[in-house]
Amino acid sequence: MRIFCFVLVFFCFFLAGCPGKPPAGEQVTEFVLGTFCSVTLYEGAKKEIFSRIFSRLREIDDEMSANKEGSVLDQINKNAGEKPTPVRPELMAVLEKALYYARMSSGAFDPAIGPLVKLWDINSNAGAHNPQVPAEEKIKEALALVDWRDLELDKTAGTAFLKRPGMALDLGAIAKGYAADEAARIIREAGLKRALINLGGNIMVVGARAAAKAGSPWRIGVQDPANSRGAYLGVLEIRDTSVVTSGVYERFFEAGGKRYHHILSTETGFPVDNGLLSVTIITGSSIDADALSTMVFALGYEKGLELIDSIDGAEAVFVFDDKKLRLSAGAEKIFTLAFDQ
Ligand code: ADP
Ligand code: MG
Repeated sequence: MRIFCFVLVFFCFFLAGCPGKPPAGEQVTEFVLGTFCSVTLYEGAKKEIFSRIFSRLREIDDEMSANKEGSVLDQINKNAGEKPTPVRPELMAVLEKALYYARMSSGAFDPAIGPLVKLWDINSNAGAHNPQVPAEEKIKEALALVDWRDLELDKTAGTAFLKRPGMALDLGAIAKGYAADEAARIIREAGLKRALINLGGNIMVVGARAAAKAGSPWRIGVQDPANSRGAYLGVLEIRDTSVVTSGVYERFFEAGGKRYHHILSTETGFPVDNGLLSVTIITGSSIDADALSTMVFALGYEKGLELIDSIDGAEAVFVFDDKKLRLSAGAEKIFTLAFDQ
């Protein structure tokens, strides 16, 4: 699916709406990485740069998708308990980063969460007439197979190995962030100064918003998780950084009057239930923002904020189910509530 539109770009996106005047740019949107990915380039935009970006996104999808037959990730999963799988340095780096955050969160973030993700199958369930909550026994079985410490990375041999049969990797919480960083790299290498990358709500901005006004920030809306898409709680003013949200509204199904969303607790095997509706992370690299948004959501407000405070250059916006908002100190400085606009 390819939509080429060399038109005015209206800044109403994603997790978020984006208020303010729409700057002109050239935008391409494609369905890749399981979502709609848009890239907007400004001065110096060329068809050839868009092609390079989208072929890289497709390459990442082919390599890192857990749901694609024949992807490298799929091979690692099929070889679980049997033999190591060769991986390229790029995937090795993503897996190392995933293990780094798994260690940091004592497994609240776990790239080996595959068996549990497959069991809940939130995506298919969301479309079903009678969505299913898995049986307790099945959840226990899947949970027993979720353990990042059983992922063995051999950098010398260039291989990845899941030690037990039935284990499976899922990079759904980190791959889009990596992809956004790759898109930004290609844009910068092409010598472009301004761009906006939106991979299904995973935002990365390059440069300033307006060419004329040096340094003017991009304005990125934070979605109201309790409202329809496009309604925002407030606006973040950012430059050369990434904004990523993990929320209960991204993917979910409802059964017995309860909402089951896609961020799963590695302790209970159920969707994380800690009073949070969403966590937005603002930090320089999108792979970090993506992993952190899922991790901080899974850890909850107290532990999550403590971690964010300990990481240089990372900020967070927490939205609670009673509609309350809490922000890290640095986020306070760049956030404006919607009704103050
Ligand atoms: P989105 O995919 O909507 O951008 P996230 O970045 O928060 O949202 O990633 C959620 C996805 O990550 C899930 O769909 C699943 O594939 C995976 N996942 C769910 N729970 C965890 C977890 N505790 N640790 C790591 N990955 C997870
Ligand atoms: Mg994430």
